[in-house]
Amino acid sequence: MTRIVLASSNPGKLAEFNDLLADSGLQVEPQSAFNVSDAEETGLTFVENALLKARHASRISGLPALADDSGLCVSHLRGAPGLYSARYAGTHGDNAANNARLLRELDGVPTEQRGAFFICVLVLLQHADDPAPLIAEGRWHGRVLTEQRGAHGFGYDPLFLPDGETASAAELSPGMKNRISHRGRALVQLRHELDVLRR
Ligand code: IMP
Repeated sequence: MTRIVLASSNPGKLAEFNDLLADSGLQVEPQSAFNVSDAEETGLTFVENALLKARHASRISGLPALADDSGLCVSHLRGAPGLYSARYAGTHGDNAANNARLLRELDGVPTEQRGAFFICVLVLLQHADDPAPLIAEGRWHGRVLTEQRGAHGFGYDPLFLPDGETASAAELSPGMKNRISHRGRALVQLRHELDVLRR
């Protein structure tokens, strides 16, 4: 079993990654177990920030590292909230305020101009100086609703209507969301890249 460090201290993510990587020979451990502090996310794109987080965690722990970065990009807002999704309204993780700001920014914008996608980028570095990281990306397209619907999920889920669905992301069961979401897709792709690497 190869131990790898997850550049996040979120227990939900740890369980999700371990679940998907079961049978892969990898055991994912939280960065808090190695006293890794949060990296400074100074990149201008999701992939840059995921790389910065993975490199930081790998450098400090001495182990291979996995990092993710995700957010919501709204085309009418030129990709905002984007990298700042978690703190769109100012306070990190204030979902209610973030959703309220998103509704304000799109006030009066017609349905056909409310297109958006969630994105998740995953990076796996074998070591801190790995020049060829595995990079996987998942996108989940849909549009921003005019009012919140549903009680599952987190973040912008109540305002996101995925393409081809009649339920908002917060009305989907967690299992269903994980199968079709940006994170689910990126995880499947990463698993595929790992399998190819080990063939
Ligand atoms: P993180 O990469 O997990 O820190 O996510 C960044 C932010 O993007 C979160 O705080 C949410 O605001 C938003 N976000 C990312 N993924 C999702 C999702 O699946 N549903 C709703 N919001 C999300």
